[in-house]
Amino acid sequence: MTDNPRPSFKRIVFKPSGEALAGDSGSGLDGATLDATAAEIINLRQNLGVDVAVVVGGGNFWRGRQGSLTGMDATQSDHIGMLGTVMNALALQDALERQGQETRVQSAIEMPRIAEAYIRRRAVRHLEKGRVVIFAAGTGNPFFTTDTAAALRAAEIEADALIKGTHSGVDGIYSADPRTESNATKYDEVSYMEVMTKDLRVMDSTAIAFCRENGIPIIVFDMSKSGSLESIVQGGPEGTLVRE
Ligand code: UDP
Repeated sequence: MTDNPRPSFKRIVFKPSGEALAGDSGSGLDGATLDATAAEIINLRQNLGVDVAVVVGGGNFWRGRQGSLTGMDATQSDHIGMLGTVMNALALQDALERQGQETRVQSAIEMPRIAEAYIRRRAVRHLEKGRVVIFAAGTGNPFFTTDTAAALRAAEIEADALIKGTHSGVDGIYSADPRTESNATKYDEVSYMEVMTKDLRVMDSTAIAFCRENGIPIIVFDMSKSGSLESIVQGGPEGTLVRE
């Protein structure tokens, strides 16, 4: 813990989990949730002048481990998962553009008919021109998650923070699961090291270690509360901040 006030951010990577785009059902896509998420992103871009890159999750369609459980080849299963993130990216792009926000989708797995390939310099140029860039297909590699993809892209585009939105009904990081443990307490701020040593369920450990090594602050928050993203980029007290 530190007494430092929370920083504000000018360039972010926003990482909504796949489930956060699915609305209450937790799977597939929900139009109203996509529209609401798009509106919050547009507010950051157009009213606050924040560069916004989005790394979308894919768990609303498929997670690699689902396949492994039934004996599917792990790499094959992860390829399916990455394709799920492309579907989410296209849906979010549609929601953003219907509300008048220019966007580009860049995919880590090349599919030139529907998305640009991921090219870092081009992504940064898009951000400088006021476009929202959506990164699809995770890192492009099996055995990783979109949390790690978000951390990697944040380092590459020199983002000030990685903002992870969940849809768990839990508004940050707790000492234990508040849905089952009545004495669980919420952290306003927690260090990377504490997250790792206490095995707090925030992001996968590869992503946490990567953010620590590269000095990228992480904010975890519950996306179902509107206005949270705006508050976070302005240094507000939403969710939990993870930093050194
Ligand atoms: N995935 C992958 N490599 C990556 C990112 C994702 O193989 O770089 C696969 C993996 O199978 C994962 C799935 O895509 O389970 C969906 O991503 P993730 O679980 O991170 O989505 P979220 O939980 O954020 O919705």
